[in-house]
Amino acid sequence: MNKIPESLNEALQYLKEGTYDVLAGGTDIMLKNRGYAEAPVPFKKNMLYIFNLDELRYIATHDEHIAIGAVTSYASMLRHPDVPDILKRSIRQIAGPALRHVATLAGNIGNASPSADGVLVLYLLDARIILASADGEREVPIEDVITGPGKHTIRPEEMIKEIRLPRRTFSNTFFKKVGARKADAISKTSLAGAARLHDNVVEELRIAIGAVNVTVVRDRSIEASFKGLTLEDLKARVDEVAAAYDSLIRPIDDQRSNARYRKQVSFNLIEAFIRQL
Ligand SMILES: Cc1cc2nc3c(=O)[nH]c(=O)nc-3n(C[C@H](O)[C@H](O)[C@H](O)COP(=O)(O)OP(=O)(O)OC[C@H]3O[C@@H](n4cnc5c(N)ncnc54)[C@H](O)[C@@H]3O)c2cc1C
Repeated sequence: MNKIPESLNEALQYLKEGTYDVLAGGTDIMLKNRGYAEAPVPFKKNMLYIFNLDELRYIATHDEHIAIGAVTSYASMLRHPDVPDILKRSIRQIAGPALRHVATLAGNIGNASPSADGVLVLYLLDARIILASADGEREVPIEDVITGPGKHTIRPEEMIKEIRLPRRTFSNTFFKKVGARKADAISKTSLAGAARLHDNVVEELRIAIGAVNVTVVRDRSIEASFKGLTLEDLKARVDEVAAAYDSLIRPIDDQRSNARYRKQVSFNLIEAFIRQL
């Protein structure tokens, strides 16, 4: 039977005792359980509706990180002064305003799509995910939560309680998604970048690429190889930066695009990010 818990504890107890799919904004999961108008939704599993749990609706600023509760809508994130600008830029390109009032970042993680725009920025920002169960909590880096298209390591008795974004400042950030149209489009490919420069020298360079592999691509050893370069050197080596990602950019052909196009556009986005530094 579907459940509508009134507290997080009650929700976690249901997850401990039964088998449920968590339903937050429903903007992904309702499509997967699509039925006919006016007929009851033909849910394939029991649903646990959590969107009314106000105790999971918050954005809190701490010394080291910003904490975002699991049912916080994208619209609330856009209004909050401490939510990083790079995340806001991606959110403004997720679906349209109406959907952003109910859709959540936790749902973007749970859906585990390689083209998810919020997840792309979570990779870039080294987000950590708090997974809660009736028996306790664990904190897991985003790249250990998502393992492939639609696949994740959230245990059946767990749910996402909170998303933590370490507070870091960058000299420069970049977000670009390429879709079939300017708004309300799913990414064919996407790139989020961040750089920290000091006296014209690269202290940190981060690149996350979406929709070109089974999960978002981020490679810390490639990023480290550009540390210490002057900005001029980095720009002069832009082809090397793109080439370093060649083996990781392994897109597929699907209804939205083809592999060749996705690969070339990913290289173009890497170049665009480096050139605008
Ligand atoms: C018209 C339209 C346009 C869209 N455009 C975009 C786009 O541009 N970019 C993009 O990235 N996405 C897009 N999406 C997909 C969707 O809106 C996002 O993935 C959204 O973030 C999902 O959030 P939700 O709260 O609605 O998730 P739900 O549909 O409620 O859940 C999605 C999945 O996550 C799980 N889940 C939800 N909350 C939790 C939790 N707390 N703990 C554990 N599991 C959980 C659910 O069980 C389910 O498997 C679009 C969808 C639609 C319908």
